[in-house]
Amino acid sequence: MSSVAEALKRGAARLSAAGIESARLDARVLMAHVLGMPSNEVALSRRQLTPEQQGAFEALVERRAGHEPVAYLTGEKEFYGLTFDVGPGALVPRPESETLIDEACREFPDRDAALTVLDLGTGTGCLLLSFLMAYPKARGLGIDSSAEALDWAARNVRCHGLEAHSEVARCDWQELPPRQYDVVLANPPYVATSDLEAAQGQSLAFEPRAALDGGPDGLDAYRGLAPLLPRLLSPAGRAFLEIGRGQGPSIVKIFEPEGLSMLRIADDLAGIPRCLVVRRQG
Ligand code: GLN
Repeated sequence: MSSVAEALKRGAARLSAAGIESARLDARVLMAHVLGMPSNEVALSRRQLTPEQQGAFEALVERRAGHEPVAYLTGEKEFYGLTFDVGPGALVPRPESETLIDEACREFPDRDAALTVLDLGTGTGCLLLSFLMAYPKARGLGIDSSAEALDWAARNVRCHGLEAHSEVARCDWQELPPRQYDVVLANPPYVATSDLEAAQGQSLAFEPRAALDGGPDGLDAYRGLAPLLPRLLSPAGRAFLEIGRGQGPSIVKIFEPEGLSMLRIADDLAGIPRCLVVRRQG
């Protein structure tokens, strides 16, 4: 039998040896999951682990040492102050995507507005549902081409009690009925295929390829979005789109001939240009 502190130390050392940069934090999060306590309390715990707890912790550490995402091991991830269920088949919510919600809130200051929202490639639903939590009178549709991802989204709709405000549906972007929305959110796949291949063996390799692979230059999804967005946006509507490092100018070139204007590109908290804010021209 060992104490929480000893098990944490061994777990962090194992993760570090496996090349996990966030070894100590990950060990703490996994321990918190096993013990069912907040991760900030774990470091102070003087408890002894039961053999079951120790076994469960060590098993999770081994899986993490194989680079499985922590969120797939705990089954949840915090995003915009909310907790989302997540697992294989859906992209893990990432802090940089919170930039889209910040920008949408900035663009639409009236939180009582009855806005309509569309989330393209909703995954866990984190963007759509965070937005709907911030705008109690808004209504939204989240679509995804992956049935597995939609199962997670539907689960999160229920967890947050948003059934009356949201719908999630399996649908390709091109199949959407011609309706206009005040807010369009999207975190499309934008990683260049070669970069994704170079990331084999890392956490990224466990996540759905369809949510990450943006083709040879990472911009395929934006080429698909360009002709669709003008008819999905209402005249005063805004699209908030997540982009990869340095992709902004190329995407603006793809969008402008299709009748879209860029209002700004907002940085994420790491200072990387991350969110393209777009409207219809004219
Ligand atoms: N930000 C993600 C990553 O690089 C990519 C997400 C995406 O392609 N939409 O890990």
